[in-house]
Amino acid sequence: MSDRHHPTAMELGQFASGELDDVLAIMVSVHLGQCRRCHGRVELLQQHQADQLAELSPDAAYGNDELARMLNLLEDAPALEPRVPEPTQMEFQGRRIDLPAALAGLVERAGPWSRVVNRLWNAPIQDHRRAYQLNFIYMEPGGSIAAHTHKGREWTLVLDGHFSDDAGDYAPGDLVHCTEANEHSPRSEQGCLCLAVIDAPLHFTSGLARALNPFSQLFFKTGG
Ligand SMILES: [Zn+2]
Repeated sequence: MSDRHHPTAMELGQFASGELDDVLAIMVSVHLGQCRRCHGRVELLQQHQADQLAELSPDAAYGNDELARMLNLLEDAPALEPRVPEPTQMEFQGRRIDLPAALAGLVERAGPWSRVVNRLWNAPIQDHRRAYQLNFIYMEPGGSIAAHTHKGREWTLVLDGHFSDDAGDYAPGDLVHCTEANEHSPRSEQGCLCLAVIDAPLHFTSGLARALNPFSQLFFKTGG
């Protein structure tokens, strides 16, 4: 995992203080189960918050001085061995894929898989009661998604297999952020299962793929 594929320091802080919603917290916790660096940082943040922040009002908890001090502290956080509970399983195309236990609730609520385009599959997660769309996404070996930007923020957590785009390669546990500023075209040689949170439908930018734009509305139907 490179630095690019971790939750941001701000997100780790929000996770540590319970400010992330349950779905985003699950995604971060899956990352923590595979990343000693972030696990150590969160432990340190939680200790620090227990020691210091309880005395502050909620509004003051993320004042600029306090935040800067916490972010500085992260630099010295020790790496910790992750705790890894029993996995849950997802069945897809005749395969059983072990997934982190934290995902059990989302796996239960995943709708049926359907083919979106070519080698791209989608299983929307129902009843998560969030404003964004939440999907398991599977790219078959050799699959790719046409170049697109995002109208909102996208978080993609790699669960099994690998994918890559112009910016890098992504492995299980990587948490990949995309914003309106990023244009990318993900592809996977070996196949890749991901969990994706998407604020707004993908906006396709390349030639013929623009024809997919209306379709992306179907693809990323808001759950819940
Ligand atoms: Zn990390």
